[in-house]
Amino acid sequence: MSAPKQVKKEYRHSHEIFRRATEVLVGGVNSPVRAFRAVGGDPIVVDHAAGARLWDADGNEYIDYVCSWGALILGHAHPKVVEAIAGQAGRGTSYGMPTELEVELAARIRAALPSCEKVRFVSSGTEATMSAVRLARAATGRDLIVKFEGCYHGHADSFLSEAGSGLATLGIAACPGVPSALAALTLNAPYNDVASVEKLFDQHRDKIAAVIVEPIAANMGVVPPMPGFLRNLREITTRHGALLIFDEVITGFRVCYGGAQTTFGVTPDLTTLGKIIGGGLPAAAYGGGRDLMDRVAPLGPVYQAGTLSGNPLAMSAGIATLDLLAAPGFYESLGDRAKRLGDGIASALRETGASATAARVGSLLTLFFSREPVHDYARAKKCDTQRFAAFFRAMLDRGIFLAPSQFEALFVSAAHSDADIDHTIAACRESLAAVSASS
Ligand SMILES: *Cc1c(COP(=O)(O)O)cnc(C)c1O
Repeated sequence: MSAPKQVKKEYRHSHEIFRRATEVLVGGVNSPVRAFRAVGGDPIVVDHAAGARLWDADGNEYIDYVCSWGALILGHAHPKVVEAIAGQAGRGTSYGMPTELEVELAARIRAALPSCEKVRFVSSGTEATMSAVRLARAATGRDLIVKFEGCYHGHADSFLSEAGSGLATLGIAACPGVPSALAALTLNAPYNDVASVEKLFDQHRDKIAAVIVEPIAANMGVVPPMPGFLRNLREITTRHGALLIFDEVITGFRVCYGGAQTTFGVTPDLTTLGKIIGGGLPAAAYGGGRDLMDRVAPLGPVYQAGTLSGNPLAMSAGIATLDLLAAPGFYESLGDRAKRLGDGIASALRETGASATAARVGSLLTLFFSREPVHDYARAKKCDTQRFAAFFRAMLDRGIFLAPSQFEALFVSAAHSDADIDHTIAACRESLAAVSASS
């Protein structure tokens, strides 16, 4: 495929649609991360997409590295996924009763993630993490949870302090509307800081129900766990009778078929999944050992339900997606593609002398406008977000669509061709040069 056309972009239709959007939708968007507040201008208004390409309402073409925030590991409108959705749509879109599709997707998840003997499907990652914490509190009879600064676990009340993603982008450290009594039950520790976690357990002996963590942080930009970090969390939680929850909403089926828990060989008590398992439709899940999961209603008293949970369209899309991911060599080839991009960006950084560093784990990548490597939220927040904004706009002008925030990952999909990657590297070199020259 050729490079996106590099004409001066027209945004007339997009502007008109977005103007109408702002009259009837809050900020014109249905999720704050879609707003361009941190980078300036209006968000692109999407008309359609295919593979790694996205077209806006004015016909401008982009190579897409948002890919629905990581949900689309196969790219947009993969023919097999479209076929599965269309085939199911004609047979009914929701029944509110069990289907074989739910069994099929759950069996695939169980085979991929040995920690998930049983799963419960929900419709969003937020529901999954919220429910996992409820279950952890019920199982331990304790109220406190430990999370990490800069991690994002959805928008449930308990997760909105010092959180990553849109809260980092908008600088919301504590969210109004969360009762202080509830906020007090969430303890924050710096990512990659085992000593801080030990300290919290010493201070709150026998009161901590669970530690929830993104095993590879990807909502403050990509921050890999330092060697031993996850293993230490496993050891500390076990020693104190608390549960370890891996929020694999991004990393599940992303870094390898078995998720980050397989990559790092650390087994959590509970796992949350989302994004990829719905193949671009709303599906998420939480899962764990049989004894733990059997506390959930109807077998146990921990109540959790959903009208559209296990939705047949979403299950069909998820099954079709996972079957393609299970093909031999899928993750090797995706990793090679992402490495090509990471290496290209690294050499563009060297050539331009830009003060930025690239972090990559598999197909997750972030270019931090920081000289120092980023290993926690404090360091991520020191990035030059103004420079990121200029870089973002320079890339957009060249037909490359990145997440409109320094605190997000780039997602490489199987639909990104070598030519797409090479074009992206060239655009990156030009954009870095332009951004450095303007300082
Ligand atoms: C996206 C995300 C969530 C929330 O999922 P939604 O489907 O947006 O509610 C939770 N945890 C992590 C790690 C995520 O990246």
